Amino acid sequence: MSNCFILLAAGKGKRFKSKLPKQLINYRGKPLFQHSIDIALKSKIFDKIILVTNKKLKIIDKKIIQIKGGRERFESSYKALKFLKNKKVKNVFIHDAARPNFSINLLKKLKKQLTRNNAVVPYTQTDSSVKYFNKKKYENLIREKIFLTQTPQCFNFKKLFELSSKNTKPVTDEASLFLEKGLKVKFIMGEDKNIKITTKKDLINKINTFYGIGFDIHRLIKNKKLYLGGIKIPFHSGLKGHSDGDVIIHAIIDGLLGAMRKRDIGTFFPDNRNKFKNIRSPKMLKSILNMLHANKFYINNVDINLICEKPKVSKCRDKIINSLSKLLNIDKRIINLKGKTVEKLGLIGKEKAIACEVICSISK
Ligand code: ZN
Repeated sequence: MSNCFILLAAGKGKRFKSKLPKQLINYRGKPLFQHSIDIALKSKIFDKIILVTNKKLKIIDKKIIQIKGGRERFESSYKALKFLKNKKVKNVFIHDAARPNFSINLLKKLKKQLTRNNAVVPYTQTDSSVKYFNKKKYENLIREKIFLTQTPQCFNFKKLFELSSKNTKPVTDEASLFLEKGLKVKFIMGEDKNIKITTKKDLINKINTFYGIGFDIHRLIKNKKLYLGGIKIPFHSGLKGHSDGDVIIHAIIDGLLGAMRKRDIGTFFPDNRNKFKNIRSPKMLKSILNMLHANKFYINNVDINLICEKPKVSKCRDKIINSLSKLLNIDKRIINLKGKTVEKLGLIGKEKAIACEVICSISK
C-alpha cells in the first residue's frame, strides 16, 4: 500500500463540554468524524484509512481499519504509525477529526508536493495582531511571519515513523517533530474553511441561517386599487382585505416571521382591530423589519411566486422588485419574482383572486 490516511478521532474534546465525544456529535447531518472519512474515500488517493478511536464506531467500508487510540493526540498518532509498520506504506496523511471541511483539492496539492518533500503541511495566516507572553513579558510578533498550521499534514512514512518513535514530548502536530530536529517542512496554503471545531460555540455560529415560508390570498373586487409589492398596479380590480390586501408584502411578512420563528402576521396585526383598518402594507412590513434588525438578522434572499392570471407579471416585475428592494432595504439581485398562472382554474383562474407564496432566508 502506498498512501494511507490516518484519522485521529480518539480525543476527549475537553473544551467541548459534552457527554457525547466531540467526534460523534452531529455536524451538518452526520457525525463529525464521518465528514473526513467521506472526503478521504471520495478522493480515491488512499489504499487504507486508519480510524483511531477509543469508541468502536459503526462504519462499513473495507478500506477502513479501526484501531484504539492513546490518551494524548501524539500517542494516538504513534499507535497508528506502529500499526502501519511493515505494511509497505510510502506516504501517510494525518488528520484531526475536528476539521471536517477540507477539500479533495487540498489532498491533491499536498500529495503533489510530497514527491519532492518529506513533510508537507497546510497553513493559513492571521488577520489579528499577535502577542507572545514570554518570561513575564509580552512581545509583539510580526503578523506576516505567523503560520497557523492545519491538518491534513502529509509525510514520508519512514521519516515520520523514525521521528515519532524517538519522540517522548507531547506535540500538537507532526510538523513539530520535523521542526524540532531542524528538518525541512514544505508549507503550502491551506483553506480558510478548514476550521477546527473546538467548542460548542463553533457549531452554533455555523448554524445561523433560517428559512421561512409565507402564503397569502385575497379576493379581487371592483372599485379598489390594486397594490402589489408596495406599489399601485393598473388593473380593473383591487384586492379585498382589512388592509390594502397586498398579497406579496403579506406573504413576505409571514416568511420573515417564520424564519425568525415568531408565529404569523395575524399575531402582530389582528384583522379584528380597528387600528389596522386600511393600513398600508409597507407600514406593517416596516415594523417587522425593525424586529428583524433588533434581533440582528439580515436577509439573504427572497423568492416570490405571484399566482394570478392577470395582471401579467412580466409587465410589472421590474417595478415590483424595485419597490421591494427599497422597502426591504436590500439589493435587487437577492429578490426573485416569478409569475404563475393556474390554467384558468378556480377563483384565481377566473381572475377573482390573487395568491402569493414566498420563501425568505435570513442569517444572524
Ligand atoms: Zn393578506
